[in-house]
Amino acid sequence: MARVVIVGGGMVGMCTGLLLQRDGHDVTVLERDPAPPPADPRDAWADWERRGINQFRLPHYFQPKFRQQLDEHLPDVSQAIRDAGALPLHMVESIPEEMTGGKREGDDELVALTGRRPVVEAAVANAVVAAELDVRRGVAVAGLLAEAGPGGVPRVTGVHTEDGTELRADLVIDVSGRRSPCLRWLEVIGAAEPDDEVDDLGFAYYGRHLRSPDGSTPVAFGPPLQHYESVSTLTLPADNGTWCVALVTAGHDAPLRAIRDFDTWNRVFASYPMVAHWLEGEPIEDHIVSLSKIEDRHRSLIVDDEPVATGLLLVGDAWACTNPSVGRGASIGLMHGVALRDTLRSSTVDDPAGLAKAFHAATLATVEPWYRATVDMDRQRMAEVQAAIAGTSAPTDDSYELTMAMLYSIPRDPDLMRVGMRFMALLSTPDQELADPAVVARIREVGSGWRDDPIPGPSRAELLALLDA
Ligand SMILES: Cc1cc2nc3c(=O)[nH]c(=O)nc-3n(C[C@H](O)[C@H](O)[C@H](O)COP(=O)(O)OP(=O)(O)OC[C@H]3O[C@@H](n4cnc5c(N)ncnc54)[C@H](O)[C@@H]3O)c2cc1C
Repeated sequence: MARVVIVGGGMVGMCTGLLLQRDGHDVTVLERDPAPPPADPRDAWADWERRGINQFRLPHYFQPKFRQQLDEHLPDVSQAIRDAGALPLHMVESIPEEMTGGKREGDDELVALTGRRPVVEAAVANAVVAAELDVRRGVAVAGLLAEAGPGGVPRVTGVHTEDGTELRADLVIDVSGRRSPCLRWLEVIGAAEPDDEVDDLGFAYYGRHLRSPDGSTPVAFGPPLQHYESVSTLTLPADNGTWCVALVTAGHDAPLRAIRDFDTWNRVFASYPMVAHWLEGEPIEDHIVSLSKIEDRHRSLIVDDEPVATGLLLVGDAWACTNPSVGRGASIGLMHGVALRDTLRSSTVDDPAGLAKAFHAATLATVEPWYRATVDMDRQRMAEVQAAIAGTSAPTDDSYELTMAMLYSIPRDPDLMRVGMRFMALLSTPDQELADPAVVARIREVGSGWRDDPIPGPSRAELLALLDA
């Protein structure tokens, strides 16, 4: 069994660490932020300082795939999240029966377990403490230790920390998030240049959280993410009778930056009739939390089928991250952690090049399709947003047309509702769902009106007028 150092104790780092520990590996997780999680996860919203995660207090929604994997691989963590008051949300049962056609076999997999990010992460952090995973907080990794491997390819043998401590390991796993410094670290140890795709599509998020006095959450009149010309709305039920609401725009949409102002944001959000009632709650914050410059990024240490370094693997956002409005990051990261655990069951750290290639193959088979599908959707959505700003119409490709038709058909056909929901929940990829030509034909028929039948909301001109009101 291997000595493993994990860089980054976010949710994916902690869950990956626990998965590996339970397979008998000797795991140490190093987390830069010093503060431990509060004993009661419900206090995490107010009390837990996590500067290492920019999006810590931004709206999050955890998809059914996240819950499904926790139930299957880390049931104690799943239970801890439930005990913290996370919301089990049944995608089918939360919709009127006349639309769903009644409950069917298989619908119970469409259950999310969701909550505000700090609450869910604190529950995970407490669960891994209870499981005696060695998580060292307040330890920032500053670089890699390495020796020359076969063919001059550096073999990573550990990490050194900002206070000068060296930790040796058979395997270093970088789970340090979307701003991972691993490319700089690899350059320092003389590795060839890794593959690094960056697409700054430039989405910006502006959100706030509310709660009800009785623990209920608002009724949804549509899916959590709804697109309107140059703006999207997010309405995300969360833990303990709380919920998050957000507006997603293009960061370069200069006039729309005015929604950083609390009153302006509220005026704009209230102008979307399908979601305005989500503002009827007790405010948790008196300001808008925002984040921009959220890039799509994909890093790979395998170039031309060979590793640029061995003994180092990238997992979660450090491997790839996208525009997060579809709420996939945590699910994809957890899938990736499971893929790593499974790879280590059949590959050994004693063959580091073989391990690097096997994990690359597992990555391509499990999470890469989700990354690619998400980036394709992001590009098309940003093209639409830009066209709406410019007053033109955006060219779209056939796969986007089909995805949009699939989403449009959800409330209009109980069979296609399950198809669209499984896709949104990350329970099956579009390729799996669309393998049957009859399903594709039905989606094209039922979903054909998606462009001509927009959800009611202000036009671009009305939106701009609201900013100045
Ligand atoms: C605005 C926004 C909204 C999002 N909404 C959703 C959502 O609704 N649903 C969803 O599933 N996902 C969402 N995501 C994505 C989700 O937050 C990430 O996919 C998920 O947090 C990835 O986890 P991670 O553990 O890989 O990285 P992170 O959560 O970023 O954790 C990385 C950790 O590494 C630590 N670290 C960094 N550098 C070092 C170092 N040198 N030494 C030691 N420690 C270090 C950091 O302090 C941090 O704790 C959202 C992202 C954004 C930006």
